[in-house]
Formats: sequence, C-alpha cells, structure tokens
Amino acid sequence: MEILPVALVFFLATIVSTTQGYEPVLTHHIHLLKPKTGGARGSVPGLSCLSWRLAVETNNIINWKKVPAECEGYVGHYMLGHQYRKDSKVVTNEAWLHAKSLNLTKDGKNVWVFDIDETTLSNLPYYAVNGFGTELYNATSFNEWVLKGIAPALPESLKLYKKLLTLGVKVVFLTGRGEDQRNVTSTNLKNVGYHTWEKLILKGSAYTGKTSYVYKSAERTKLVKRGFRIIGNAGDQWSDILGTNVGNRTFKLPDPIYYIS
Ligand SMILES: [Mg+2]
Repeated sequence: MEILPVALVFFLATIVSTTQGYEPVLTHHIHLLKPKTGGARGSVPGLSCLSWRLAVETNNIINWKKVPAECEGYVGHYMLGHQYRKDSKVVTNEAWLHAKSLNLTKDGKNVWVFDIDETTLSNLPYYAVNGFGTELYNATSFNEWVLKGIAPALPESLKLYKKLLTLGVKVVFLTGRGEDQRNVTSTNLKNVGYHTWEKLILKGSAYTGKTSYVYKSAERTKLVKRGFRIIGNAGDQWSDILGTNVGNRTFKLPDPIYYIS
C-alpha cells in the first residue's frame, strides 16, 4: 500500500526533471506522434476511409465504380450520422449567402439549377439496405426503388429551395432520371415539399449513351439561349457542376456512395 505513493512521487519527480531539462525534445516527440495516431491517444479507425472520401469529394479519385468494401461501415455511419447533414448544411448556407448577395432583377429570368438524386431527393433508404455503395450499381433494383416515389427530401436542400423562391428565383430541376420517370419524379418532389418549378428536365432518348456531363452541359446551354440566367447550380456529382454554362456559382453537395461521369 505504501509502495505506490513512493513510486508515484519518484515517477512524477522524474517527469518534472525530464520535462525541465529536455523540454524541446519532449515537445518534438509529441509532435512526431500526432501524424501516426491522428490525435492525442490511440489509433483512429476509418482514417483511410476518411482520406478516400476526401479524395472522391474533391474529384481527385474519378470513375470509381464502388465504395471500397472496408469503408462500408465508415460511409454508413457518415451518411446516417450527423456529419452528412452538417456537411450539406455548410454547402447550402454558402449557396444561400451567394443568392442573397446578388442584386437580382425581378424579370423572371433568374434560375437556380438543382440536380435531383442525392441533391433534392435522397436515396439513402435504398443504399442503406444495399451496402452503402459497396455493391455495383444495379439498374433494375434502383429503378424499382425510384418507381416507388417515396424518396425523402434532403432537408438542407429543401430549405434552400424555399428560401430561393422568396427571392423570386425560379427553379430548374436537371436530372439524369429518364423521361419514363417524369410522373413518379414529379409526384415524389411535390409530396416532400418541392411544390413548384420552372422546368423539370429529364434525360431524353437524344442523350442515350451520352455522359451526364455532356447532357447537362447541353441542357444548361439551352436554358441560357432562352434568356435564363443561371445564378446558381447545386449537385452531388462533379458532372452536375462542370462543363458549359455551369452558372454564376456552383455548389457541390456530399456524395461518397456513387460516381457519375
Ligand atoms: Mg445527383
């Protein structure tokens, strides 16, 4: 019982003398440890998945077909936890600050382009039971899900949508969904709160075999030629916001589940 306090005093005395005598060395050692642990203690599970997510969100990793198998848990926790919502909120807040800062003329020509899947509507209920992107895209099962018409709204995007309407901005939905999904998409949008829009542009047969990048660029160009001003453009894919006539500013929402070129 008496050994412990003595040992503790000796230990503390050693620390104090070591710290006082070799402070720069001790500081340096702590600094070296940080990159290995990612923090003050222990290892950080999922650190490589975080790096992977950062790389896909910044368009450094492209043309990927599925989420790495070891990242299923990481992506699932990210999507279902608070971080996905927080990351989305930062994006939509910036979008709102941008729109609000513009001195918009009330001529009915100002439009905001929204993508649909993982931008205004969420397919998370589908992906949550299909491996969070770790499984290859299955058109049959995904279309079955879409045709149910029960995709929830992304809450932060819905808030942005409503606020943009108060500025007199018109909304254009530009989606990779096909014309055959017009009715279910329209109903789904209305049921979750997107009650009005200027245009709902779906991918017609003219674009069969064309990338989303090509299709969306062409449709935005048509809008501009009709006299619309694209004051903002929000999407979860880089192919939503790269190309021609992308808009006054673009806003990339998070999506670590799939990639569309
Ligand atoms: Mg999308």
